[in-house]
Amino acid sequence: MTSSIDRLKSLAKGRETELLTTLGSIPVELLDGRGHPCPKCGGTDRFSLIDAAAGAVLCRKCFSKGNGDWLSAVAWHQGVSLVDAIRLAAEHLKSPPPLPM
Ligand SMILES: [Zn+2]
Repeated sequence: MTSSIDRLKSLAKGRETELLTTLGSIPVELLDGRGHPCPKCGGTDRFSLIDAAAGAVLCRKCFSKGNGDWLSAVAWHQGVSLVDAIRLAAEHLKSPPPLPM
């Protein structure tokens, strides 16, 4: 499982923002590194892209833990499990999906 994730992440390198918008359906205008309303829970400036290289986003209210990369952001915003996010990403990146756990 870990090696599948590593493979996905290396395939995704440089495409993190694209993955957040295509797979994650997070509006690209929210990903400029500044504070924005959270696409899930609103507010005014609680959501931001905190690490563009990792594709990590933060909502101070509803997504402040386990938010270290684009994969977790996709799972969070789409309301799917990490495993499903990995499947979506593998499909998108044309990598063979990981073996069932
Ligand atoms: Zn939120």
